[in-house]
Amino acid sequence: MDFLTALNQRVLVCDGAMGSVLYARGVFVNQSFEALNLRQPELVTEVHAAYVRAGANFVESNTFGANRVKLAGFDLVDELVAINRAGVRLARAAGARFVAGAMGPLGVRVGEKRGVSVETAAEVFDEQASVLIEAGADVMLLETFSRVSELRVAVETLRRRSALPIVAQVSTADDGLTQDRLTPEECARLLTEVGATVVGVNCGEGPSATLESVERMADATTVPLSAQPNAGAAREVEGRRLSLSSPDFLASYARRFVTEGVGIVGGCCGTGPEHIARIAEAVSGLAAPRTVEISADVSS
Ligand SMILES: [Zn+2]
Repeated sequence: MDFLTALNQRVLVCDGAMGSVLYARGVFVNQSFEALNLRQPELVTEVHAAYVRAGANFVESNTFGANRVKLAGFDLVDELVAINRAGVRLARAAGARFVAGAMGPLGVRVGEKRGVSVETAAEVFDEQASVLIEAGADVMLLETFSRVSELRVAVETLRRRSALPIVAQVSTADDGLTQDRLTPEECARLLTEVGATVVGVNCGEGPSATLESVERMADATTVPLSAQPNAGAAREVEGRRLSLSSPDFLASYARRFVTEGVGIVGGCCGTGPEHIARIAEAVSGLAAPRTVEISADVSS
């Protein structure tokens, strides 16, 4: 069964964080997490496998920052192909049913004075995507984009290259807006228009803000939605700063996401296999709230 057929049948559970789990396992933050695909592959596979055991239907390759611009900062451009290839291979080796080729923002402004041009950004996205696709990714997942202008370039580039499903996720501030001041409705409309298969929200300000954003996206598009919140920002509760981040707290939102049209639920920073296990329990057996039309030419 391919990814879209599965997505049309039931709610799919994605994984949680890679970065914060690696950090918890003693990996220092001042290095390329993606280079671990080559330096400590067994550690990366172990994290993937923990998510698969927790009930994730698919996992994201450890390739979030494995684009030319970000790798240049670590002097790792020469290893771009190997890092991305290994990313897909390690996710697959962990027993994941589907592997999402994960891509993040470039870390520089796109199409603005100080930064890179739209053409350059498109080339950089295409370079990484081509390796992930060739390595066998079942779906492409673009995440943590706080500027829709950049995410748009990524979606358009991927759509030109491949007919694979694209999950396009923005990261919004607590006012619900992206950094380039688009509303969730505007994001959903724009991303659907340029070819995203699924639109959604990840990272950001925790599950309750994510719920508000997907509710608003649901009004603006008919495609399935995705929600991968952080474990939760610290909040003032009766005079105390509490981080509402327990697996149960996060899972309590999972069914509410689905009611709004979310067909892919997972986690972002601060979430681990325990969170995903509780989410998987919460959405177990739920039918897909929205479906995608599968066209005949999706095989390319
Ligand atoms: Zn995050």
